[in-house]
Amino acid sequence: MTREGEREIVKVEKPSGGEGYILKEALLGAEELGAHCKMFSKVTLPPHSELGHHEHHGETETYYILSGEGIYEDNGTKIPAKPGDVFFCKDGDGHGIRNDGEEDVVFAALSSIGGEARLSDIYAEIDGHKKAVSNPHWKDKVRQVLQMYSSFYSRERGVWAIAA
Ligand code: MN
Repeated sequence: MTREGEREIVKVEKPSGGEGYILKEALLGAEELGAHCKMFSKVTLPPHSELGHHEHHGETETYYILSGEGIYEDNGTKIPAKPGDVFFCKDGDGHGIRNDGEEDVVFAALSSIGGEARLSDIYAEIDGHKKAVSNPHWKDKVRQVLQMYSSFYSRERGVWAIAA
């Protein structure tokens, strides 16, 4: 277990191109998350901040609003968000959230993997990262990893999934 105040809080400026910043507090570490969860975090969105629109591929994301009032954006549709509301972003959809109020909007974010992803989306996610820049054959390496481990299987040409 961990207690309030023991976990690392990371400040992310202009999250997904939105204004202001968010504070992200991972509630679980990588080992606890296991193979099917990518993230379980507490997110604080201060007044006049926005987590900009972004899409999820090969994963889903759930926001559970704990406090404050914001505007959730679901594939371009704006919806008022209040404590107790749960918003689910399914694989392939896009979302964001903004805070025009005067108090923090705090929510739990749960991200699970296990859907499928196009190889081109996997490349887009990795492109520009340190290890990709230093290895000119990084795309070969990505395909090698996908083929090597039985956790991944190809649903159709260029589409990869994680085995249940
Ligand atoms: Mn998201």
